[in-house]
Amino acid sequence: MDRRDILELSLAELETWCAERAVARYRAGQVTAWLYQRGVRDFHEMTNVACGLRDELAASFSIGSLTLAKVSRSSDGTQKLLLRLRDGATIESVLIPDGERLTLCVSTQVGCAMGCTFCATATLGFRRHLSRAEIVEQLLLARPLATRDDPPAEPARITNVVFMGMGEPLHNYVGTVGAIETLTASWGVDFSHRRITVSTVGLVPEMQRLLAETQAQLAVSLTSVHERTRSELMPITKKYSVAQLLAACRALPLPRRKRITFEYVLLAGINDRVDDARALARALAGIRCKVNLIPFNPFPGSTLRRSDDVTVARFQDVVRRAGVHATVRESRGPDIAAACGQLVAAEERRARRESRRAADADVTADIDAAMSS
Ligand code: SAH
Repeated sequence: MDRRDILELSLAELETWCAERAVARYRAGQVTAWLYQRGVRDFHEMTNVACGLRDELAASFSIGSLTLAKVSRSSDGTQKLLLRLRDGATIESVLIPDGERLTLCVSTQVGCAMGCTFCATATLGFRRHLSRAEIVEQLLLARPLATRDDPPAEPARITNVVFMGMGEPLHNYVGTVGAIETLTASWGVDFSHRRITVSTVGLVPEMQRLLAETQAQLAVSLTSVHERTRSELMPITKKYSVAQLLAACRALPLPRRKRITFEYVLLAGINDRVDDARALARALAGIRCKVNLIPFNPFPGSTLRRSDDVTVARFQDVVRRAGVHATVRESRGPDIAAACGQLVAAEERRARRESRRAADADVTADIDAAMSS
């Protein structure tokens, strides 16, 4: 039988495992300290744990399942990690240094089911959810690579984690919330909730649940407040209309000093007019929020275009003048395709190209057969 990944467990579950074996409860805390504070990947390195127990742990559990297949470094210090899962699929995580901050962007699914027309991950379709362990391990593998310097010199601490990589975190609610528990628990990685942001297309019930069950920051990808335009760009709008989504955001019980971030991908000629900026500001009136404008990052196969800098600046200005806080997210790691919405492992792209070529060959064969009959 396959051993279970120990990164899947909470402290309480590990304590139960200990109790079932008449092992003292505090041993579980020792093990999680080795896993999450020290980052060890072998039970035999847990030197304050009795030998027999180490053997028993090793017989019952594995530690992680991902392998680091490739690291790409951008000239701006951004690093993209290509990670291979046990089943051979690949995902990506991105380390982004920005002044005092060092942010890790994690994936929550292989592919994505949401089908946003401006996102490269959507072109993969949905393959599967990542487990809690697979999400947490992205941090454990990125941590030793974290640095702010270029070329890499001094190690640095990751200060923020954003659930903005491949996939829709709230579609994978269980994996996401489990990972947040391990990332924030004092027995786990011990990150502050304030430094964890979950970004969603706006799955309304799960958003409400997330706010009730965790203290993570919420970012909602809005991208248009016009029902028709948003439906075309983000099919989830057919399930939760713009009006429903904004009403839900308005009603969220936000703790004091907390704001929702609305992400808005700027697409030339589609949602970047002055009127769109005014409509956005009007729609957000009364919601404690800020807007993060993201100029579209093109990817192979997309016909959409990025708004030019003048249009972006004008859009931001109009939103601000209407009293809504708005920032522009600069594109990071563009030379390594690590920017927002570009995360499709090159491997996947190559595999898809090959299967398309094979399909084309089939069509050619069909035509040949039809012609000759
Ligand atoms: N599924 C979640 C998280 C992953 S996408 C969500 O949609 O929020 C993270 C952010 O990148 C979202 O705000 C999304 O709108 C944005 N994004 C996706 N594709 C993009 C692209 N090609 N250029 C710029 N931003 C993009």
